[in-house]
Amino acid sequence: MHNFIYEIKDFELDNDALLLGETLFHNANGYIGVRANFEEGYPDGFKTVRGMYINGFYDFSEMKQAEKLFGLVEEKQTMLNVADTQGIQLTIGGEDFSMFTGEVLESSRWLDMAGGFTARRVLWKSPHGKEVEIVIRRMTAFTRLALFIIDFQVTVKNSDAKISFISGHKGDVMNYFDPSDPRIAGESFQHIAVEKVEIWADSSFITSKTVKSQLMCCSGVKHSLSGKPETALIQSVGGATATFSMDVEKDQPVRLVKVTAITDSIRCANVRKACALELANATSVPIETLYAEQAQYLADCWKRCELNIDGDDDLNLALRFNMYQLIQSVTKDEYGNIAAKGLSGEGYEGHYFWDTEMYIQPFFVLTMPEFCKKLIAMRYKTLGFAKENARILGHTRGALFPWRTIMGSECSGHYPSGTAQYHINGDIAYAIVAYYLATGDFDFIVSTGAELLFEIARLWLDVGNFYKGKFQINDVTGPDEYTCIVNNNYYTNALAKYSLYWAAKFYGLLKESGKLAELAEKTGITQHEIGDFIKASEAMNLPYDEELGINPQDDSFLQKKAWNFADTPKENYPLLLHYHPLHLFRYQVCKQADTVMAHFILEDYQSQETIRKSFAFYEKITTHDSSLSACIFSIVASRLGFAEKASEYFGDSAKLDLFNTHKNTKDGIHTANMGGNYMAIVYGFAGLRLKEDGISFTPILPAKWSGYEFSVSYRGSVIEVKVSGGQCTFALVNGEKQSMRVFGKLIDLGLGQPQSILMQ
Ligand code: BGC
Repeated sequence: MHNFIYEIKDFELDNDALLLGETLFHNANGYIGVRANFEEGYPDGFKTVRGMYINGFYDFSEMKQAEKLFGLVEEKQTMLNVADTQGIQLTIGGEDFSMFTGEVLESSRWLDMAGGFTARRVLWKSPHGKEVEIVIRRMTAFTRLALFIIDFQVTVKNSDAKISFISGHKGDVMNYFDPSDPRIAGESFQHIAVEKVEIWADSSFITSKTVKSQLMCCSGVKHSLSGKPETALIQSVGGATATFSMDVEKDQPVRLVKVTAITDSIRCANVRKACALELANATSVPIETLYAEQAQYLADCWKRCELNIDGDDDLNLALRFNMYQLIQSVTKDEYGNIAAKGLSGEGYEGHYFWDTEMYIQPFFVLTMPEFCKKLIAMRYKTLGFAKENARILGHTRGALFPWRTIMGSECSGHYPSGTAQYHINGDIAYAIVAYYLATGDFDFIVSTGAELLFEIARLWLDVGNFYKGKFQINDVTGPDEYTCIVNNNYYTNALAKYSLYWAAKFYGLLKESGKLAELAEKTGITQHEIGDFIKASEAMNLPYDEELGINPQDDSFLQKKAWNFADTPKENYPLLLHYHPLHLFRYQVCKQADTVMAHFILEDYQSQETIRKSFAFYEKITTHDSSLSACIFSIVASRLGFAEKASEYFGDSAKLDLFNTHKNTKDGIHTANMGGNYMAIVYGFAGLRLKEDGISFTPILPAKWSGYEFSVSYRGSVIEVKVSGGQCTFALVNGEKQSMRVFGKLIDLGLGQPQSILMQ
């Protein structure tokens, strides 16, 4: 897989295209994210979502509830737009550069995924005939997380000229809002207030404080310019402005480098001091050093997530784009996570969902498992809030993780499709086990994983109860948000069964290794309680319908009316924007994979026949109105050997954001979908599974591909997988010898001993 450049030439300047570009070309490093707004802005009347965000940095907003019922969420968190350091106005001989005046002779925008930067190049003819080449590179640094850099180069092609830059640093910023869309904030509010603006030597600093959460952040800006400009740095209301002007000769390039450093009080005690230090460190090295560090960081990442579909360059580019976005979005510390839209926009207000554990961690667990540790550590840090949440909901023991959150407490407004999704607990448990199975990192289970599992298992015991010999979990919502508050949702119960089993398993392993005492004392966990976990797990009610031979989604699902798909106009999708939730709840209609998802992650709980019949049943009634759905159907189709169907489901969904197929990429990328596409190849077509008895593969090859290959990390070794020419080949690239199953047959893989197996 070689293509690292995503480029658009002669890009459009209509408002929708610009909004989309703001997302597609955003820069992020897991700590900060900056939307790709034009430095010089757009003309009046154009909409923009102009923003710079910090992972995990939030303020509280009021969540208006029409009726004050006990325990309903009245306050949510919102990821904040923290500072605006994007502004640079270029003037050439008294004429302001704008792509909307004069004439754009050439233009292109690109993302360089090897170099880790975005760029815009414009060849512009000013209204008075100056021909100017402008190349602007932007980067958020992976190796120095506080940094955002704009590298602005200008060459006047056809005359000498006086050029000047006016560069802004603005603290007075707000979040975007749109009252007509439930997926983004509905109202505006000034969440962050400037405390202090300082000009210090040649740098400006803005220290701000959030209104309710009382968090602090600081942004520092420093410029460097080639040549000898006249400069001025002045303080303005809520910010600072730097101006530079100089005479340049024809064809002599001028380069302005604007370095921004951002710090916040969640991560450091003195934001102003830390910011000054970051800025000083960054500006003490040449910019080329920062570019080289960035490229090196990415070279290491790409080595670990090789993925290539033979002969389909467009798809390869889309897959690389998606993986790049995941690398950009994932937190690099335990104070953040991965928001549904990464750090690319304000959709879903920067909240973290189950998307992390079930769609994105499966990518990292096989490529860069160290990030999974951070993601799990973030859940661990918020365990106290999860316990509090459980108490609010009436549970006397255990922890219930919030459906959506930033700092740990629940942010769901509509509890039937939010808080009631108790499966988030099982999802977190599942991700912890997957990390353990992929890495064998038992120390992490001792320090973090086991305690989470115990508290999650306790919650299941408290929410459920035995009835007629079976353990029942009533009044919860599964992944399908068109079917809410139901009894015995198959997906939830299957994961509850699994997490109870693993809580008991970890207890046993801790005991065996002599590492239980401390945790037992801390959590009060006893052998007796473990006995209860096992009993509940073994007796878990997994709904099954004899007549249809399928797992119904829940106890009442099969009693419901069938949705009239034939008479549902195309423009009524997604249904959630056109039908009252209660109306949807009463029909057999699914927004997304639910039972089918359970059949992927916990396939051993049912026979092949039940999975096949269930798949056929849910296929007919699932709208895939969520971008988390088609990839799972693709995986299960692969599992059932339906290569062409799997390929159809896979379809163009890897290009969802690049083609803006859901029409809302302006609000941010769809990170879960991006992870889901990776899964559809590696867990789907290649049939990779991580289970207690090890790693296994059952590859298939859809007709439209001649082959594919990828590499995965497993227990410290790197394994390369190639499927083509009627066989699949496995090679150990580095690390210790590994055993694995291919089509059920055990093979041992040593260095320099690749093994080829005929496809079945
Ligand atoms: C889906 C959820 C998902 C959320 C955030 C919703 O539309 O139904 O499953 O967690 O989006 O991506």
